[in-house]
Amino acid sequence: MEETVKRFKKRLEELRVYDHAMGVLYYDMETVMPKGAIALAGDTLGALSKTSYQLQIDKAFVADIQAILAHPDAVDPITLCEAKRMNEARERIACIPIDEYVACQIESTAAFAAWQKAKAQNDSSLFLPHLEKLIDFKRRFALYYRPDAPAYDTMLGQYEKGLSTETLDAFFRDVQSALVPLIDRIQKNGYQPDTSFLEQSYPIWKQRELTKYLMQVMCMDPEHSACGEVEHPFTTNFSKADVRITTHYYENAVQSSMYSVIHEAGHATYELNIGDDIARSPLGTGVSMGVHESQSRFFENYIGRSEPFIEAIFPKMQELFPEQLAGVSAHAFYLAVNKAEPSLIRTEADELTYSLHIMVRYELEKQLIAGTLKVADLPEAWNEKYREYLGVDVPSDAMGFLQDMHWSDGSFGYFPSYAIGSAYGAQLLNRMERDLDVWTLAGEGNLQPIIDWLKERIYQYGCRLDPKELMEQAFEAPFDPKYYTEYLTKKFTALYRL
Ligand SMILES: [Zn+2]
Repeated sequence: MEETVKRFKKRLEELRVYDHAMGVLYYDMETVMPKGAIALAGDTLGALSKTSYQLQIDKAFVADIQAILAHPDAVDPITLCEAKRMNEARERIACIPIDEYVACQIESTAAFAAWQKAKAQNDSSLFLPHLEKLIDFKRRFALYYRPDAPAYDTMLGQYEKGLSTETLDAFFRDVQSALVPLIDRIQKNGYQPDTSFLEQSYPIWKQRELTKYLMQVMCMDPEHSACGEVEHPFTTNFSKADVRITTHYYENAVQSSMYSVIHEAGHATYELNIGDDIARSPLGTGVSMGVHESQSRFFENYIGRSEPFIEAIFPKMQELFPEQLAGVSAHAFYLAVNKAEPSLIRTEADELTYSLHIMVRYELEKQLIAGTLKVADLPEAWNEKYREYLGVDVPSDAMGFLQDMHWSDGSFGYFPSYAIGSAYGAQLLNRMERDLDVWTLAGEGNLQPIIDWLKERIYQYGCRLDPKELMEQAFEAPFDPKYYTEYLTKKFTALYRL
């Protein structure tokens, strides 16, 4: 067994090296790579992923995994868990013929480039044929893996193990019945806070200073983290030693980058606080997209949009932007960044209406994968749903179905994790408040005890526990979306004096 484990660990290290190289290339492609180099990088990524795939399905490696799984008592718990996770990952891809796997990687790169162009030129015809091919690939892959399950459920499970359309249908029904009447009351109420000071000119070089400050407040170690600039912000990690966040600056919307930085820093905090014992292991990363989004949205909304936290960071904001924020109080800023109003763009949506944006995407991708909605009909179906759920007219595809990058790389089943993550976050906050004086800490801008609490309950485990097990352990109770709807109802009833 000793020799088996040694060979197994050596292969894990080889796979880590490929992941690292592909990750850096992908990050470069999204941040500073010239557009003309994307096709070549796509070929490189294709070649690297082919080798990585072969290393994962190699017969000798598979035999070592099986040997470890057959003798669970002969190895340490981390090695056993690594073998289980590698086996799950292998089962998901071993069923895919290699030519199709590589073709899909190459198509994903082409689709991403086409989406960028389509969005920039507001021309959906450049992207729709690629979307159709991607859906076809991903549907086939899901059916290779679980021939008897609905393809969309299999896709959901890739981002959140155990999540199904049955759970989500019920979840969104609850969210819709609690939030739609509340949004309606706000609309009818007529009151909206003053947001004019947010739309003044905030020089980008100063916004970069704000990013640095916020990363500091979020306790991100500059030795192990950095921030790049992109069209659509994301976070990536090559290990806990190297976590990259990204943002996008708009001169006339300081809150946009500000909250995107706090959001991405929430993802980064998770990755930076993985246990040292699994730092170089495939277990050394966030367990699922839902749990990840629970962390990003926890810091962005529950902490970042709270009045105590805004009071803590406001002096620094006034120091950076003395003219733009002259005569503005922390309370006025708090009201402005919590303005709730149905809108077109998900990433700019307020906390209250956000889940309805997700519901639109959830319902549409469920139909696209099932084949009940044709790709050609997607733009119109999107616009109709925005009218139905949010009461807004979509003026262009660029502001409609082309706004998000997620479908351009085939991440179908990803969107619901944003809504589930928000709901996890509310339940975490409720549990945390029993142990910590959260609002005094937030008011001091002292997030370390909050991060330590999350590290103890969530971060340190990486992928050692399944999402459901991990969250129930953290909540000390089963998951319950009522904490989310109750939190939003309480917050927005007070904000809008309903
Ligand atoms: Zn996120």
